[in-house]
Amino acid sequence: MCLVDCERWARSLDFQRVRVKTGVDLQSARRTEGGIILMDGTDAYQGRLVVDASGHTQIVHALLGLKIRRKSGLSYEVELDGCEIPVNDEASFILDFRVSNSGGWIYALSKDKAQFGWADFWPESAAGLSDLKARVLAAMTRIGPQRDWFGKARVTYAYGRFGPMGSVSREVHANLMSIGDAGGFGTPATLEGFRQALDSAKLAYLTIIEARSFSRAELEPYLARFHALHGRYYRMHEIVRFVYLHWMRNEDIDRWLKNFARVGKDDFFRLIKGELTVSLTLKTLDPTLVKNIGLNALNRVLPGFARFRDRLTPSKKETTDALR
Ligand SMILES: Cc1cc2nc3c(=O)[nH]c(=O)nc-3n(C[C@H](O)[C@H](O)[C@H](O)COP(=O)(O)OP(=O)(O)OC[C@H]3O[C@@H](n4cnc5c(N)ncnc54)[C@H](O)[C@@H]3O)c2cc1C
Repeated sequence: MCLVDCERWARSLDFQRVRVKTGVDLQSARRTEGGIILMDGTDAYQGRLVVDASGHTQIVHALLGLKIRRKSGLSYEVELDGCEIPVNDEASFILDFRVSNSGGWIYALSKDKAQFGWADFWPESAAGLSDLKARVLAAMTRIGPQRDWFGKARVTYAYGRFGPMGSVSREVHANLMSIGDAGGFGTPATLEGFRQALDSAKLAYLTIIEARSFSRAELEPYLARFHALHGRYYRMHEIVRFVYLHWMRNEDIDRWLKNFARVGKDDFFRLIKGELTVSLTLKTLDPTLVKNIGLNALNRVLPGFARFRDRLTPSKKETTDALR
């Protein structure tokens, strides 16, 4: 794990002919002949090419009135002091439908400080930030091993937000590119996107240095490059996400993750890097899991015929309600 102060990093870059300005709040944008002008409260910035790296806000697209990609994750996190964490470099991901329909994380910052948070797949969770906040605070002391670690902890900081976007952009506009979450490059199944943000920046750069007029046709290879590197796995991500949300219960998730240990080292690393293919995904299944997923699917698709199992919804409301 590492924490990056991006503003400090940006200011430390040693460019020859570029002025780096951080902390700008973009407020309006308009197209000009062969370019785009962006404005904050006081200054205007003109570019023949603008790269929108504004994450889920997609601010340049929004200000130009272009179509915004849908938001696919909502998260709430707390920073804690006074924890009693047995290992001071603990970093865990947690999947538990009693808290959210997606997953959560614990990062120990020291033995007594930690960040703890959960994300919902959104809009499937159909819940708002205050609802997610209540679940995060309940989860601190009611589920998992952290129940013992966080008993005496107090919240020093809390933050809730949207992002990232798990739906890759299929469009390119003249004089405008979007990278990272603004381009919809977060992985649909896990909502992760650091690597994709950095890779998309590099691929955007490779495309930009080959372009002359920044027309739509000149910028189109960018998406093809991203697709070849990460995007070709996203269809499978979308299928996994659908099955996870609609047809899996806690016990199925536990069984599925245990199966990751059976796939071999190379395949395991491909799995955690998000390189989901049909054959790799099939390797993570076993007959019991296929049976459970099949019965859950039948139960949802034909409830009148097969109402022999408990109700299961994409929001997992039937289980998360217990934590409220
Ligand atoms: C709680 C949480 C945990 C995550 N954990 C992981 C993880 O473990 N691994 C992983 O790979 N990914 C993770 N992600 C996803 C990852 O954070 C994003 O995919 C990644 O940060 C996307 O980078 P980005 O540069 O595209 O956007 P961002 O990091 O969101 O940066 C966008 C920037 O644009 C700025 N901005 C927005 N609007 C404006 C405006 N109007 N004017 C000026 N500036 C503006 C913002 O202030 C921000 O600095 C997590 C996301 C969240 C929310």
